[in-house]
Amino acid sequence: METYQAVQAEIARRRELGVFASWGINTSCFTSKIKCGLCSASFVRNTRNNWAKTSQLGERYTFYGCGTNKRKGAHCSSGTIREEVLKEECAKVLGLPEFDEETFSEWVKKITIPAPGIMIFDFTDGTSLEHHWSRNAKKDSWTAERRKAVSEYRRSREPGWKCYNTFTHFIKCGHCGANYRVQTHKRVDGTIVRSWYCSSPTAAGCFKVGIREVTLKTLIADVMGLPDFDEELFNQQLAYATVPADNEIVFHFRDGHEASRIFVQKRQMPRQTEERKKHMSEVIKAKWRERHAKND
Ligand SMILES: [Zn+2]
Ligand SMILES: [Zn+2]
Repeated sequence: METYQAVQAEIARRRELGVFASWGINTSCFTSKIKCGLCSASFVRNTRNNWAKTSQLGERYTFYGCGTNKRKGAHCSSGTIREEVLKEECAKVLGLPEFDEETFSEWVKKITIPAPGIMIFDFTDGTSLEHHWSRNAKKDSWTAERRKAVSEYRRSREPGWKCYNTFTHFIKCGHCGANYRVQTHKRVDGTIVRSWYCSSPTAAGCFKVGIREVTLKTLIADVMGLPDFDEELFNQQLAYATVPADNEIVFHFRDGHEASRIFVQKRQMPRQTEERKKHMSEVIKAKWRERHAKND
């Protein structure tokens, strides 16, 4: 009887939640946020067995496609997108080192997909952005990735192209050539600190040395001979920057000249250390409680 009541309560709860919790429908943070640009139906989540085991997709893979294709006799040609590609591209657009569901839910209102390789982002702050991506189906080689990164970088740095983050695709790592990406850190007093780091995994031999966004803005204003950072003038005059040494940044202007500056590095605290600290404090507390209980 108790089980029956629990199930009824669960049914009522799910009914209230609507589509997000209905049985039989695959849900995720992308549910109802991706719309087809051709027929405006919602994209739906599909999971398939991967019969071609030669590809690196694993046993099963998940992708999104126009919901119209689920209806008998109906067809829509807007194409499909694999979930992992979706996550990667969203991370790129949001300037994140890896996909983060919370940030995505907070910032992305809607993604419209009119054709394979095109994503139109509508953000919760009212801005929008058209993002292009491509995957080499034959091989996802490093060179293909690099070429793609370079062409994306060129396009994104064109004047007038709206970039979600001012410095997205702006800083290149001097060790490995990868783009720097932003990471936000919340201080104890609640202030948010934004810092830029090389986006390649540590295994590539890059030191995780970052530059604070405030420092970056001060240095840019300095090389431009301005009292304060000016986003419009920055986009007009600067092409990109490289970090050849851990405390040196070289700014490349669109007219071809360069200016170098030294900065104080911000070394990234590995996440494990923070987690470890927390874990250790729990262990110590537990030990203390144990000792206390014995003495009582
Ligand atoms: Zn469609
Ligand atoms: Zn690097």
